[in-house]
Amino acid sequence: MSDHTPPENTPPENNVPGAHAAEAAAPGVIARGTQGQGLATRSVHAGERRDPEGAIHTPLYAHSTFAFASTADLLDVVEGRKSGNLYTRYGLNPIIRSLEDKLADLEGGQQALAFSSGMAAEAAIFLACARTGEHIVCLGDVCGGTFELLGVNLPQLGITTTFLRADEVSRLGEVLTGRTRIVFFETPSNPTLDVFDIAAISAQARQAGTLTVVDNTFATPVNQNPLQHGADLVIHSATKYLGGHSDLTAGALIGGADLLAPVAMWRKNLGQVIAPQAADLLARSIRSLPVRVRAQNETAAALAAFLAAHPRVRRVHYPGLAPGEAKKIVEAQMRGAGGMLSAVLDATAEQTAAVVDRLRLFAIAPSLGGVESLITQPITTTHHGLDPGERARRGIADSMIRLSVGLEDADDLIADLAQALDAP
Ligand SMILES: *Cc1c(COP(=O)(O)O)cnc(C)c1O
Repeated sequence: MSDHTPPENTPPENNVPGAHAAEAAAPGVIARGTQGQGLATRSVHAGERRDPEGAIHTPLYAHSTFAFASTADLLDVVEGRKSGNLYTRYGLNPIIRSLEDKLADLEGGQQALAFSSGMAAEAAIFLACARTGEHIVCLGDVCGGTFELLGVNLPQLGITTTFLRADEVSRLGEVLTGRTRIVFFETPSNPTLDVFDIAAISAQARQAGTLTVVDNTFATPVNQNPLQHGADLVIHSATKYLGGHSDLTAGALIGGADLLAPVAMWRKNLGQVIAPQAADLLARSIRSLPVRVRAQNETAAALAAFLAAHPRVRRVHYPGLAPGEAKKIVEAQMRGAGGMLSAVLDATAEQTAAVVDRLRLFAIAPSLGGVESLITQPITTTHHGLDPGERARRGIADSMIRLSVGLEDADDLIADLAQALDAP
């Protein structure tokens, strides 16, 4: 850093990356002007800035630093009197700020921070909110990286996590302590597509003085807005549906500016910000998010119905087919059931692998949320590291397959599943 860039020890309150989004906002709620318009409109227009050249969307500025007309102008940004561009690692770059405004708008949050990956976003929020001796509660199944971060990495710093399975959520009150800082969960979760009652859990956590952080990766803001139901923060692996084309890695956190200020400082000093090129690609993808996710909702529902009626399928996990209490939760907090489903086959692990291997349209790959349909057998990928007893307790059968439904024609995907399941 040269003498013309701000010192690293600038007080955080004067130099909060992302603070631009908070300026015009009423405390705790929505920041920008497109609210009241539909989600598709906002996906296209929210956060976009026309530049003097007339580019139709915010252009990509690949630059690491930005120049000022005068020292006074520079100090206005450094000391927080004006929003502006400054240094990309701080997130103060036009394409990153524009993307963050779009993300905040779509989740109905005051502010957003964009990260280099979903795990970067998770690490930043855990480190910003929990100190040595403090505690996190993690509900249900979560991404393998989250299990490792909470179960292996953070304990090295004296930050511990209690994991409750989906069938143990009624025990939440017993495990919340005066030192619990965060209740974290995915809904729907991976790979059993369990849904958790965001309003009820957030209310219980708030009473205990604890933040609720919801991973909304599977639902996307098209199908669910956790902040509307009482969550304090929303996290995304933008690598999945928000990116939507399996060609970028990114993450996001959305919520109140007061909660995100300390997180922004961790992001800045751990160097976790999204790259401008990834931010540009992500903003491009989000403009078509509602079109993609609504088509994926529809196709996944058709595939779930096909699988539920197939004699080789023992059980289908899909929020759109959820029974009883889960159905009520889906109706209360989701606008669409999503593009992810899993099924337990009436088969051995080997026979299940053979079904997977016979598929032609579905690619065998981890990850999800892209335009191409993917399939995994969770015991071989996402949940490979979990011991068999624990997998069984979590309902992750050896014969489970998980589908990420893409944008192909439903009939073609069903024909592919049929030939793979019906082969002798
Ligand atoms: C993939 C995933 C993550 C991790 O995100 P990365 O972008 O791979 O770091 C976190 N949560 C969920 C639900 C995921 O699917």
